[in-house]
Amino acid sequence: MLQRTLVILKPSCLMRGLVGEVTRRFEQKGLHLCGMKMCQLTDAQLSEHYAHLSAKPFFQQIKDAMMVTPVIVCCYEGIDAVDVVRSLTGSTNGRKAAPGTIRGDFSMSYQENIVHASDSAENAAIELARFFRPEELFDYAQPLRDFTYAADEF
Ligand code: ADP
Repeated sequence: MLQRTLVILKPSCLMRGLVGEVTRRFEQKGLHLCGMKMCQLTDAQLSEHYAHLSAKPFFQQIKDAMMVTPVIVCCYEGIDAVDVVRSLTGSTNGRKAAPGTIRGDFSMSYQENIVHASDSAENAAIELARFFRPEELFDYAQPLRDFTYAADEF
């Protein structure tokens, strides 16, 4: 199914100079970039975004770490984009993430793990609406689509 998903390039990605490397991986995979902007996240946004971790002792710490610098929020589109992006991202703890994944190749940390990626289609829709206004997401031509997918995959 054609899906859109949210990626956040975290402060660890910006500070370590990995923005080009990380976005190159999504681009080369064949994901279609529908939106991208730099923004300074707020405690209120992050309390919503990480609500599932609100009972954890590190809740405030992970929110603070996301506000150290601006972040870059990205929307990628593709068939099964949510799962594709999660598999490129790797598991949460960078020390345990598989080599070849973004976290596996660039992170030594549980918290400072370079990127956020939505974990389900339902959450992707909620998260995209949290960080993008409708007019900030774009539909535009994909001239290489016929060489990225077979006709019956669409
Ligand atoms: P993911 O980002 O892989 O979907 P979670 O939603 O469980 O993982 O956690 C959100 C973020 O909170 C993680 O990406 C990581 O930065 C941080 N985090 C989660 N669990 C821990 C932990 N045990 N110790 C430190 N940071 C954590």
